[in-house]
Amino acid sequence: MITQLTKTFQSYFATTPLVAFAPGRINLIGEHTDYQEGFVFPAAVAQGIWVGIQKNGLTVCRLYSMDFAQEFSFELDYISPKNGHWATYVMGMCALMKQSGYEVQGFDMVIGGTIPVGSGLSSSAALSVAIGTAISGLFDFQIPKKNIVLYAQKSEHLYAGVKCGIMDPYASAFGAEGKALLLDCRTNTHQEISVHLGDYSLMLVNTKVKHTLADTAYNKRREACEESVRILQSEFPHIKTLRDLSITDLEKVEMLLPEALFPKAKHIITECARVHEAAAALQAGDLESFGKLLNITHQSLSQDFEVSCAELDFLADKAQALDFVLGARMMGGGFGGCTLNLVKTSELEAFQAALKSPYEQAFQKTPEFILVEIGEGARVL
Ligand code: ADP
Ligand code: MG
Repeated sequence: MITQLTKTFQSYFATTPLVAFAPGRINLIGEHTDYQEGFVFPAAVAQGIWVGIQKNGLTVCRLYSMDFAQEFSFELDYISPKNGHWATYVMGMCALMKQSGYEVQGFDMVIGGTIPVGSGLSSSAALSVAIGTAISGLFDFQIPKKNIVLYAQKSEHLYAGVKCGIMDPYASAFGAEGKALLLDCRTNTHQEISVHLGDYSLMLVNTKVKHTLADTAYNKRREACEESVRILQSEFPHIKTLRDLSITDLEKVEMLLPEALFPKAKHIITECARVHEAAAALQAGDLESFGKLLNITHQSLSQDFEVSCAELDFLADKAQALDFVLGARMMGGGFGGCTLNLVKTSELEAFQAALKSPYEQAFQKTPEFILVEIGEGARVL
């Protein structure tokens, strides 16, 4: 990728670029917990975005996307990010860096990547973090990683119109080889946990669907959690979010909450506990327990939190029934996207064979299989 990117850069701009990389991410466990300031457990993957960059002495930034085979340019003094265009992510990061006082000057940039868009690996966060890392490196701004993460999140909120949490850019920036990040979404700090998968591999299966229900359901779930907190504060005055409750509080929580709200609160409370259990299981090299937690999370997301869909349930059920799969669950916000599967490495082909045609027959769509390895976070190469 570096060679290809450098070659493309030289043919477009006749200079040699500095190259930065930022990876996509998976989330091992901890779904919908971020907006209740809970815990998530992401890891960077080997797939990512590479950005070549060089100063051009102008006030204009000239961009080329290898994957879209498109050029784009903009004036640094008149940045107007437009929604839906890949260059939005470049303009968004520039705008936010400039607002923070960094004197970004004209540059040329080539972007190339290996993350399938919209597959659940968060290509947009990787892109933003790669851009931030490249610009910081080129102008020697030495922007702390955490600030690049915050710019990336803010850029998605303001310019891409996606109200995402901090997990995606955080994992892309702070990922480490063979490590998952036990991330506390209240303090925005993390603990690295070593992941040794032994004879097993992580494989994503992309349903290739994104049901339109996703956005409204996401907002509704957020509101349901906030409503539960308001009700529960009468008996638990110390709580700020559901993250402040534990499994031992569940009985009391059930008595206090209306029937419609309890399962949602239960998911958040038990999911935060599962994140810690999963981290402990991985630290102890106990893959079986880790796998079981993945299965329970799927059930919780599907039945209690109600953010799954027929396609995700189908893939998770089929995978869980295979004796060479230790765990399978939907990953991400829900209503489409991927499942995450812990599969015996020697059986990866059998795994694909077991899922592909049944899924095609049931949904008239071909699922996409993506093997992931836990890799290093963003850096200048
Ligand atoms: P994801 O779930 O993968 O983050 P998004 O819809 O949030 O999906 O972001 C995808 C967008 O990010 C693409 O439409 C494009 O604008 C940008 N993007 C992702 N990968 C690349 C790439 N390799 N080159 C240029 N832009 C990219
Ligand atoms: Mg995205």
